[in-house]
Amino acid sequence: MIDLPDDEALLLELLNTSPVEGGVPTDALRDDAEAVAWATERGGAGTLQEVTTVRQVRDALQSVVRGEEQPAALDTFLRDAAMIPTVTSGGVGWRLRAAPDDTLAVRVVLAWGALERDHPGRLRSCGNPECHRFLIDRSHANRAQWCSMALCGNRMKARRHYERKRQAAGGSAPGRR
Ligand SMILES: [Zn+2]
Repeated sequence: MIDLPDDEALLLELLNTSPVEGGVPTDALRDDAEAVAWATERGGAGTLQEVTTVRQVRDALQSVVRGEEQPAALDTFLRDAAMIPTVTSGGVGWRLRAAPDDTLAVRVVLAWGALERDHPGRLRSCGNPECHRFLIDRSHANRAQWCSMALCGNRMKARRHYERKRQAAGGSAPGRR
């Protein structure tokens, strides 16, 4: 038993704090005050040091999930963390011990590790290259490509349909925007 909340949702929320909206890159953690509020709402310490670490771990995780960086890049965020065995009425459990400013970053890296161990390859970037969001595919078929059907799935399907029609009509393939 690992006595930690399920942090998959936290991991995905963090990965998705910098989507491209209508062609414009956004970042929910760019502003210090907003980043502190974001972290505090998710059980963080609410310090500037913490948000600096959270931004760094987000960038590292995004690169690792996209395959641009080796997973070992995440090791630095776990350097001072420890799991402490604790006896409770339910038996022996594990409690995370980390500096308050590091706890959020440690939690998301542990959540990433658990996901890669139990559901390898299920965490991936959205198939729309202009989106910059991520998804966790929980479907049986394991073929989900989009962060959401409403945001990207329908748009990309419509584009492919349009490209097929153009090609069928003898038009040249449209350039990628
Ligand atoms: Zn998307």
